[in-house]
Amino acid sequence: MKSDFSSWSQETIVAISTPPGRGGIGVVRLAGPLAVAIAGQLLRLRNPLAHATARFAEVIDPETAAKLDESVVTFFAAPNSYTGDDIVEIAAHGSPVILEMLVRQCLNRGARLARPGEFTERAFLSGRIDLTQAEAVKDLIGSQTLYQARVAAGQMGGALSRRVHPIKEALVGLIARLEAGIDFAEDDIEVAGNPEILTAVDTLIQPLNTLAASFEHGRIIHSGLTLAIVGRPNAGKSSLFNALLKRERAIVTASPGTTRDLVTETVAIGGIPLHLVDTAGLREATDEAESIGIRKSRETMADADLVMLVVDSTLSLAEEERVLIATLAERKALLVFNKSDIGGHTPAISELPTVQTSALTGEGMAELQDALLALVSSSGAVETDAVLTSLRQHEEVSGALKGLLAARAAAATNIPHEMVLLDLYSALRHLDSLTGETTPDDVLNLIFSTFCIGK
Ligand code: GDP
Repeated sequence: MKSDFSSWSQETIVAISTPPGRGGIGVVRLAGPLAVAIAGQLLRLRNPLAHATARFAEVIDPETAAKLDESVVTFFAAPNSYTGDDIVEIAAHGSPVILEMLVRQCLNRGARLARPGEFTERAFLSGRIDLTQAEAVKDLIGSQTLYQARVAAGQMGGALSRRVHPIKEALVGLIARLEAGIDFAEDDIEVAGNPEILTAVDTLIQPLNTLAASFEHGRIIHSGLTLAIVGRPNAGKSSLFNALLKRERAIVTASPGTTRDLVTETVAIGGIPLHLVDTAGLREATDEAESIGIRKSRETMADADLVMLVVDSTLSLAEEERVLIATLAERKALLVFNKSDIGGHTPAISELPTVQTSALTGEGMAELQDALLALVSSSGAVETDAVLTSLRQHEEVSGALKGLLAARAAAATNIPHEMVLLDLYSALRHLDSLTGETTPDDVLNLIFSTFCIGK
């Protein structure tokens, strides 16, 4: 269960909140009851710190008492701060020497080093944000595309919590009514009849189902999609891979079968990370290394979310390509007829989206990107608010659904309400855990330990 807020809030923590290395500005963040007193000893302030106000301050050299740097200091007084306790942020010049000296001075004066994510953990423990919002802070910092950042920002603002709270309230209401029915069975209180319970449970199941389904989209936003680039040797896979990346990474040569190892790079398509995997040619093996490459390539295709089959349009279709095209009909796939610059043709052979390109001249590359965007969008880009973005969240929603389905089944068989209640309580525990109201300490530790220091 949650740690005791009062015990940790006695401690003052400190960390460098800006990334390691040199920069224009570097920020040392102090949180806790000693924050103001400690900052006062390290800095020469022209005016005393005031809540939500930036102050100019000289950073004092601890040995000579001379001015070592100039800084801008912001102060947020408890409880109206990020963590809920006093926070002082010293924005000095971004020199590791100065920032580390400041941290050392804070440690000498009673602060301790903050653990990764501890500031956000405090925000959670003090009740300023719930667990889904805390997770979103990490997602926002880790976002690689603007779209990912937008989704994280929505969740940080409580989009998921807002979706879950009414469900939880309705569930608590239902539980209360059933409890009343049991506790006052002798009295004349009207107890919900079973059909009524079924209806009530069903109205809870429906929005939870929608949430559970949003995880597929959340997973895609978070982890991206894999695109296997497959085709015969020399069709131009590596060239297209490179053209898509706009920089040289894969080996491009005129002799077939050189891309033996899988090469992976990530691009952003429609704000979704797309992991391009360049595979070895799909042809019969002529030597051992090549056969390993081909096996890998088939495996990659099986594992990939999306497949791009590259065909050399100057050659007629090989039998293996026809076979492959037929199997791809079941997949989210794209056909690319490459080498259009040297008189390629595009036979109408498939229902699959088809693009004509020249990796050499760049012809058709815009169309290829559009086709990839369409493919990515068709892979579950539904809505941007209230999506489940972590496996943990999905497991809690699934657990809640399981409890409700069991309650529904129990209610349908007319068994005593006590049994229905057990399942409803189980569902409630999962929803509580989702937002962090009853999340065990080890799970919390796991979540916050993946944050960066200083957040
Ligand atoms: P891979 O084996 O499928 O990865 O094919 P590569 O990308 O290594 O390309 C094989 C050869 O075809 C190289 O010599 C490329 O320069 C050439 N090539 C690739 N794409 C095109 C294209 O669109 N037009 C022309 N004319 N040559 C291309």
